[in-house]
Amino acid sequence: MGLEPRLSLGGEGMGVSSEGAAMPRKLFIAGNWKMNTSSQESSALAAALVEKIGSIDSVDLGVAPPFVHLARVGKALAGVNIALGAQNMFYESNGAFTGEISGSMLKDVGVSFVILGHSERRHVIGETDELVNRKVLRALADGLHVILAVGELLEQRQAGETLDVVTRQVKIGLEGVDATAMADVTIAYEPVWAIGTGMTATPDQAQEVHAMIRKLLGKMCGPEVGEATRIQYGGSVRPDNAAELLALPDVDGALVGGASLKAEAFTGIVEAGVSVS
Ligand code: PEP
Repeated sequence: MGLEPRLSLGGEGMGVSSEGAAMPRKLFIAGNWKMNTSSQESSALAAALVEKIGSIDSVDLGVAPPFVHLARVGKALAGVNIALGAQNMFYESNGAFTGEISGSMLKDVGVSFVILGHSERRHVIGETDELVNRKVLRALADGLHVILAVGELLEQRQAGETLDVVTRQVKIGLEGVDATAMADVTIAYEPVWAIGTGMTATPDQAQEVHAMIRKLLGKMCGPEVGEATRIQYGGSVRPDNAAELLALPDVDGALVGGASLKAEAFTGIVEAGVSVS
């Protein structure tokens, strides 16, 4: 299933995983604007990003504006290396589902990737692993690239349950996904306690979970898929901590919330990514 040309997977960048094998994993840095920006602000932010980072190609880039700004932001991004993403979608294609948006609608306005399973969808809206899985399957069938977000709550980390929680979210989230479709999947490890709090996971904490996810993907889909799948880190990524996180062996990019709303801050993170690529 094809990706839009603006989001190509498996670029030329070479990395070395915790397993020691060399593999092509280009960093993928995406901004999640959440429920922020007016139409004017979204246009201004998109224009600033085009100017500052639109010609970077050593790192894959994307932004996920609110649904109502997708078409506008997509126009602003035309012809540059910043993919257009959505923050959510529904698991049916069309019909009587008031208030929902389908994958084909997203494709129609130029979206190439969708964030599914974000912690705010799970813990504020109440989405279950099973619901997330239905969306993942539909998004892939619709030809969208999926960022599947997973991560533990603070109390789960404190109870020593992090690896179990993340394992369950990855396993159920990807149930029924064929290994060949994994080229269209990025995992985002986002500890819930680090999202929007200013509390970033330490490099050791991030690397431990990323390496575990990679091993799990290897078991589920085969070692090649485990090595090739990109695993982003998310949770209070800023220009001043990005390089350290992005240089970790099993961290292949970032999903950025708050800092993606400021062109300078997002640019700083992207430049950190370029510097460690
Ligand atoms: C996010 O919402 O995915 C996120 C990582 O937010 P922040 O960067 O603000 O912590």
